[in-house]
Amino acid sequence: MKYYSTRDRSLRMDSAEAIKMGLSRDGGLLTPEAIPQIDRAFLESLVGECYQTRAARVMGLYLTDYTEEELLAFAKNAYGPDKFDTEAVAPVRTLDETTHCLELWHGPTSAFKDMALQMLPQLLSAALRKTGEDKTACILVATSGDTGKAAMEGFADVPQTKIMVFYPKDGVSKVQEAQMVTQEGENVGVCAVVGNFDDAQAGVKRIFSDPATRETLAGRGYFLSSANSINWGRILPQVVYYISAYCDLVRDGKLSMGDRVNFCVPTGNFGDILAAYYAKRMGLPVGKLICASNRNDVLTDFLRTGVYDRNRPFHTTMSPSMDILVSSNLERLLFDLSGENDAEVRGYMEALAKDGKYEVSDGIRAAMKEQFWGGFCGEDGTAAAIGEYYKKGYLIDTHTAVAASVMEQYRRETGDRTVTVFVSTASPYKFCNHVLTAIGETPAGDGVELLDQLNGATGVPVPRRLAALRGKERRFDRTCEKPGMDDVVLDFLK
Ligand SMILES: *Cc1c(COP(=O)(O)O)cnc(C)c1O
Repeated sequence: MKYYSTRDRSLRMDSAEAIKMGLSRDGGLLTPEAIPQIDRAFLESLVGECYQTRAARVMGLYLTDYTEEELLAFAKNAYGPDKFDTEAVAPVRTLDETTHCLELWHGPTSAFKDMALQMLPQLLSAALRKTGEDKTACILVATSGDTGKAAMEGFADVPQTKIMVFYPKDGVSKVQEAQMVTQEGENVGVCAVVGNFDDAQAGVKRIFSDPATRETLAGRGYFLSSANSINWGRILPQVVYYISAYCDLVRDGKLSMGDRVNFCVPTGNFGDILAAYYAKRMGLPVGKLICASNRNDVLTDFLRTGVYDRNRPFHTTMSPSMDILVSSNLERLLFDLSGENDAEVRGYMEALAKDGKYEVSDGIRAAMKEQFWGGFCGEDGTAAAIGEYYKKGYLIDTHTAVAASVMEQYRRETGDRTVTVFVSTASPYKFCNHVLTAIGETPAGDGVELLDQLNGATGVPVPRRLAALRGKERRFDRTCEKPGMDDVVLDFLK
């Protein structure tokens, strides 16, 4: 299977090359030239299998230049008991006969980013081998909190790689910061940037596109790569858990093979829900894809009207990983829904860059309406959902609460009673202060001491790796201004 750019179909390459590059040189996203189809027999064959085997089988359909033995070995490394605190890896929790929750935060950093970032470093290492690359890959990451930690955890001490993470100085939770500045590994670097997430992100983009920096680094034996969800190696491992959740529901008698299921996904960069879309396009029996946003409701408007307009205020919310106004992965959806019309996609992206705005064709608008439903939930609604679910005996984080609330809206407005799985993307322990407040407690402090308070109030166990943050040595203390980010990278790659 070949991969090509959403902005130029004549640029074609193997998956190893696509994973190594991260982003196409023309600014487009690298995307498979065909979506492999699965049938009932394929799904039936996965029902009795473990998560690791399901992952190797599904990924093998797309990564034809990797062997199935390779992929199985990667999946065993990525999702083993030393990394995940449950054998199920991505368990489905049943709330009632038509409502289930897919928990994606049982990995080492307690956020769903682990599902892909435990796998990507292995795909990338193999890609370096397969393409005969002799330079070291330096992964540059701008993070609003979860990606940076999960990427470092995945890349720590992986040969022929280094990773440098920038986070906004006052833009991440105390637990998230503690997770990052205590990261172990000889090949990792972390630096706080004075400014917000967009500043950090703009700085990273600038370094990526600066030919002088690239040349200097090449002279030192490095090339830059990305671990953001623009990399196909991040999207593909996420397709797996939608198929896996379906198999679990069939195995446990909650669904008959062939019945449809809806997925409701808390969305920021449109990566996670795009993976659900690919699962549906592959032939998984999926009804509606419910796209849940927080107060930054640019996607809700887009799915309803066909007009994408980022010209609006940016809100900082209690679900920070969804505070985003430009959802990069939408480009892959537009490419597919336009019938892989690269010129059309290029036009939309040019308009977005120029005016911050574009309007899709009637065809795309209709197709989006058919497959997606968009809704959003404000801060009060988010807190209320945490409170309600807690009363029902289930403690959820702020991002998951957005999904839960939008799922209810969807059911109220449409009357659709299809079995629905909403996606839980982080442990409540990553956002202790907001979760404590939402369940009626007063946070006593703002650091890792809140882990104990939340545990004392709820009795829900603290994830092992978060509990271990207490007393862990701080390894990184550097802060820079936005223009100083280049120097930090050049120092790091001496
Ligand atoms: C990254 C993240 C999201 C958003 O996922 P996208 O793939 O960017 O849409 C939602 N919840 C949490 C906890 C996250 O870390």
